[in-house]
Amino acid sequence: MGNQHRPRRRFGQNFLRDGSVIQRIVSAAGIQPDDTVVEIGPGQGALTSQLLPVCRQLLAIELDRDLAAALRRQFGERLELIEQDALRVNLNELPGQPYRLIGNLPYNISTPLLFHFFEHASAWQDAHIMLQKEVAQRICAPVGDKEYSRLTVMTQFFAVAQILFDVPPEAFYPAPKVTSSIVRLTPRQLPVSEPDRQQAFAGLVKAAFAQRRKTLANNLKGIISREAISEAGIDPRRRAQTLSVEDFINLLNSA
Ligand code: SAM
Repeated sequence: MGNQHRPRRRFGQNFLRDGSVIQRIVSAAGIQPDDTVVEIGPGQGALTSQLLPVCRQLLAIELDRDLAAALRRQFGERLELIEQDALRVNLNELPGQPYRLIGNLPYNISTPLLFHFFEHASAWQDAHIMLQKEVAQRICAPVGDKEYSRLTVMTQFFAVAQILFDVPPEAFYPAPKVTSSIVRLTPRQLPVSEPDRQQAFAGLVKAAFAQRRKTLANNLKGIISREAISEAGIDPRRRAQTLSVEDFINLLNSA
């Protein structure tokens, strides 16, 4: 397979071709024989073929019809293929929960995919995903860092995020312009569990970061009063990038 398929940019197709990198990802994931694994974007099966022998059940979500047909030919029924847009798959309805998520993600939709994973964070045990290094650094950034952003806070609200190792462009075909990183996400025990409160949290974080150079009081005008910000123990003159996830939770609770 593979040689006839012309990589499609619109599907973010950069196929892994370096066997040692593939091995390294699979071993970092530490799949156990009883595990159910859900792979996002199996492509030409680079990770899939290494995952199949080491887990109990493998589901893979692939949007590209040609690749899906080739995967069916290659792996037969052993692979449970879901031929759909991963953003539209209800991850709470898949079997084997909490399952292991894995994927060399299509970079053009990596942020919406991350939010999609977080919306279904109780369905998976952990995730091992390939992201652009820049995005990986953003989601793992410590508070106060220049990369610390809305995506950082949302990620760290839902999960502990850790960069495991970098992957150079040459490991892929075609080679992307940027370096990539493998990230491990482990869902946290959520301090805010009700879905509507989680939505309020997301709205608050979005508003707080609307303009990075503005103070919290300014960005949150009409959402939380200056007094309520102070009551949460936070100086309203601070900027969003200086607030930890816990600070944002305190803000939510004082609103
Ligand atoms: N796993 C393969 C590898 O490592 O060689 C392919 C990785 S490639 C970066 C991303 C894969 O995701 C492609 O196979 C692409 O067709 C698929 N894809 C793109 N958008 C998708 C979507 N919305 N839902 C599911 N799969 C998608």
